[in-house]
Amino acid sequence: MFVFCLLLVQQSSVAGGKTHWGYTGHEGPAHWGGLVSDYRVCKSGREQSPVNINGSTTGRSQSIIFGYSTRPNNIVNNGHTIQVNMKKGSRITVNGKIYQLRQFHFHSPSEHQVNGQHAAMVIHFVHQADDGQLGVVGLLLDKGKPNKIIEQLWQYMPEDHGDEAPLPATVDIKRLLPLNRAFYNYSGSLTTPPCSEGVNWMVLKGRASVSRAQIRKFTKLFPRSIRPVQPINHRTIYSR
Ligand SMILES: [Zn+2]
Repeated sequence: MFVFCLLLVQQSSVAGGKTHWGYTGHEGPAHWGGLVSDYRVCKSGREQSPVNINGSTTGRSQSIIFGYSTRPNNIVNNGHTIQVNMKKGSRITVNGKIYQLRQFHFHSPSEHQVNGQHAAMVIHFVHQADDGQLGVVGLLLDKGKPNKIIEQLWQYMPEDHGDEAPLPATVDIKRLLPLNRAFYNYSGSLTTPPCSEGVNWMVLKGRASVSRAQIRKFTKLFPRSIRPVQPINHRTIYSR
């Protein structure tokens, strides 16, 4: 699990290297499962992410309690996305289970769809519980007003693959969160190799905004950073 965390946090700089993957061509999502045996589940898995959220079942009343109390550590260009690594201490509690916030990162457009539609961007807040389980909160961003927190973050955005920059203590990430914390919930996977399953996915119904210029600043570096939606198979999507 330790190696796994490192991969999530510093995909590009793990000693010994890791099989290259991308979003287009021969290293693109359609080929991930065949690139190397470690990525097999990208092809063989039956509970993969993202998915199109098209109808959902009302589940037991459940909420995400956000305790985002710490500041970000640094902002990294890992070659696939822009990622913000967090100082220890921020967490969510879901159904009594605590997940620590490790990092959050961006995709454009959103990976999950709602009723067949992508949002302009998405933030994935990646958390991990003591038992190793990952819990990822997806926050969809619609094109509209500039996002104040993203404005702060983008000032420090490293443009070159592998670069990182420290972030000042004034970036208050809980201000990214929408007021509406209702969410869609299902069991899925990492949306990047190795596509490991058992991820507790929570896609917030409330959305935030991002301006066209802010989107462009990201897509200039990462023109298309999404895996296509995967079959839902036997799974249920719960509405919380
Ligand atoms: Zn992601």
